[in-house]
Amino acid sequence: MERDTSLNLAEIELQECPLCRGDGIIEEEEGWCFYVSCMDCGAHTAETAYKTDDERMAAAEKAAHLWNIGKVVRMDPGE
Ligand SMILES: [Zn+2]
Repeated sequence: MERDTSLNLAEIELQECPLCRGDGIIEEEEGWCFYVSCMDCGAHTAETAYKTDDERMAAAEKAAHLWNIGKVVRMDPGE
């Protein structure tokens, strides 16, 4: 029986940007972590790393959670 190991990122709910109310997007970095960033102001969450497929889904959800509770860092330096 085949197992679908693909991760449906579309099922992960993202709220609007806590800083500018822009749209957040979940991104995957070179197959080792996720983070969520704002398409408008560039604010982003910390990376959530994973090693296995099981951890991968959890990492994606963790990144979304950080975003949804407003734990983001600004892009611009000196702030
Ligand atoms: Zn923003």
